[in-house]
Amino acid sequence: MVYVKETAKPRWTAEAIKKFCGWGFLQRMANLAGTIQTKRLVVAGFLTGGRISETLQLEVSHFNFGEDPEMVVVEAMPVVKRYEKVGEKKKWKCQYHCKMRWGTRKHPEEPNPDERERHDIVEYTGYETKSLEAYRTFPFPKKEPLVPILQELLEGVDRQLFDINYAKSYKEIIEIGKKLRTWIPTHWFRAQRASQLAIEYGYEEHDLTEWFLWRDYETAFRYARKGYKGLATKMVR
Ligand SMILES: [Zn+2]
Repeated sequence: MVYVKETAKPRWTAEAIKKFCGWGFLQRMANLAGTIQTKRLVVAGFLTGGRISETLQLEVSHFNFGEDPEMVVVEAMPVVKRYEKVGEKKKWKCQYHCKMRWGTRKHPEEPNPDERERHDIVEYTGYETKSLEAYRTFPFPKKEPLVPILQELLEGVDRQLFDINYAKSYKEIIEIGKKLRTWIPTHWFRAQRASQLAIEYGYEEHDLTEWFLWRDYETAFRYARKGYKGLATKMVR
């Protein structure tokens, strides 16, 4: 388990994601959830490995328990942050001072004279992108220990699993982390799922890329490093 002091700036680095925390730890987290929605967030967040903004969009109908005798199939879960390159455009960045950027999706304006004065601005050619609607369909085994809890948590849900926003969900997860004397950002579930898939099922880069619908191998490569346990598994087969 990764322990980061509360005073430390929360950082998400490759070193912090190497190990799977274990199903027992996830079950403890679910039990520590203050509300039923938070419990759903823990369970669905891990099982789907979705980004928090994607997990919050989940509906009961996304979970198909009847299709496969051994698998829960998540069908057409929304994926955010998918962009298509549609051209090139001029952008600006502050090179040394603060790394701020202009002409981007988040900050579309170009630097004003005052900003040009204060920052070390350089101009560069970047991509112009367009948001894409995307969905992922993927399985997970019914025998995973969190599945019975998920089924219980879906009972009586009409449609949406959540009616909380990002800020609220972030706070709730941090609260659980505090009870466990650790720092758990919402992105943690996604990273943990990736580690678990690599360690317990021997998922390789290309499997992870497909399961998460990642755009490239780079992210998958970070998680697919299995540590000594994973390497040992391959030796005793
Ligand atoms: Zn600057």
